[in-house]
Amino acid sequence: MLQERAAGARSFDSTSPATGEVVGSFPLDGPEQVAAAVARAREAQRGWAELGFDGRRRALQAYKAMLVRRTDELLALVHRENGKPRDDALIEVVLSVEHLDWAARNAARVLGRRRARTTMVLANHAASVEYQPLGVVGVIGPWNYPVFTPLGSIIYALAAGNAVVFKPSELTPAVGCFLADAFADAVGDQPVLQVVTGDGTTGHALCLAGVDKVAFTGSPATGRKVMAACAERLTPVVLELGGKDAMVVDDDADLAAAAEQALWGGMANAGQTCLAVERVYVVDRVYDRFLTELVERASRVRPGADFGPITLPRQLETIRRHLDDAFARGARALVGGPDAVRPPYVDPVVLVDVPADALVLEEETFGPVLPVVRARDAGHAVALANANPYGLGAAVFASRRAERIARALRSGMASINSVLTFAGMPSLPYGGVGESGFGSIHGPDGLREFTHPKAVTRQRFPLPFGMQSFDRPGFVLPAVRQAMRLRHGRARVLRGARPEPPGPPGR
Ligand code: NAD
Repeated sequence: MLQERAAGARSFDSTSPATGEVVGSFPLDGPEQVAAAVARAREAQRGWAELGFDGRRRALQAYKAMLVRRTDELLALVHRENGKPRDDALIEVVLSVEHLDWAARNAARVLGRRRARTTMVLANHAASVEYQPLGVVGVIGPWNYPVFTPLGSIIYALAAGNAVVFKPSELTPAVGCFLADAFADAVGDQPVLQVVTGDGTTGHALCLAGVDKVAFTGSPATGRKVMAACAERLTPVVLELGGKDAMVVDDDADLAAAAEQALWGGMANAGQTCLAVERVYVVDRVYDRFLTELVERASRVRPGADFGPITLPRQLETIRRHLDDAFARGARALVGGPDAVRPPYVDPVVLVDVPADALVLEEETFGPVLPVVRARDAGHAVALANANPYGLGAAVFASRRAERIARALRSGMASINSVLTFAGMPSLPYGGVGESGFGSIHGPDGLREFTHPKAVTRQRFPLPFGMQSFDRPGFVLPAVRQAMRLRHGRARVLRGARPEPPGPPGR
């Protein structure tokens, strides 16, 4: 695929964030190359749709097996290009393979044609609905989970019968190309999944290229630009944006487990996770004991071994700014301190006494920094957690009130007595509210996101007198109206609601 690109195209290098070593050189694709990829995809999509659910299931299972066979190669590449340890990359691959398997096996059940109910007035018609592919889906991905995140859209779009043009982050283009090459190796050289490489200008070109949907994962600021660009051609979008996920720890929680999971959820991948635990609200009765458990564990975490470097150099500045702001407002560090930022690494930091309006409690930090806040009780913890414009995931450590707290948290997803688990559960939708975006990937909703419903009615037998005719006899509508009164008019009218005024006589 890369060889097909126009000779002389401008290019850019991707480098290792740990060593600066060049991982590869890639074309900076412009509108022309993007348009050509979309045209090839449109052509290929017809054959892909014609394969049907069975054919696509077999193809996606082959892709799954190819990713499993080439896992070592992929882990090495993710480690070089993104910087994360191979073990962290392995978690991405394992979860992606589970999603691939689920989407392949369940697409027919979720999207296939099925009968729908009819009504009394249309009893002579049958009804059916199916979910048809949109055509070509543009996927724009971030660098922090260069395998799991884009595949979360790509897999579901492909299983639904679409072709995909994927624009990986300019920080991880080699991983993006690997994912498409593995697909071609497994399924044959049809351009059902293609990659275009470049920075934001390439992503912008993809938004304007006449694709049938854009699935974007990245920051809220870029999400707004994507939505504005897509508005030009009424291209629908699904936006998976940033997060400021909260964990709530209630007084009957297993505190050792809560501390262990807060630490991993907050600091795995150096905190560069949209679903990272970025705020912990602990009820007063167990606050001190939770902190003892957390601090003991956090002091043992080592950057470079337990997590990798900060992949995006300018993120180091954001982390430093959040820490400086917190310390200036009176926060104290129980682990780490003002010198935690040591490019390209950041040491673990546990903060207490952080005022509610500090940047580290309001904005996405994307670093191994965990502010812990004391709450009066579970209700107070939920109120504090919800006072933030983001709403991606959340975690609850509790027993009696766990379900109630999870449901009250303003987030698209929540896990009880674990962190991030919902992301690995292929049967569940994945998506946020507020600044975290809208729309779903994963699960049945994620399959439907890349389709449009096709509703069909079929008249089974004609009625002697129907409503849909200028020549209907005068008694038809009054009779239908009488039937409506009998069927629907007897529900109790609530106080304040007015009964329907008498309408004009039917024709
Ligand atoms: P980003 O917004 O800077 O870039 C994301 C992608 O958009 C990149 O491929 C980039 O090249 C492209 N892009 C940039 N400008 C564009 C434009 N004008 N039009 C179209 N595309 C454009 O984000 P990032 O730094 O790569 O990723 C980190 C962010 O992603 C964080 O906020 C993180 O929380 C979020 N994220 C969210 C999820 C999720 O599932 N909700 C998952 C992973 C990351």
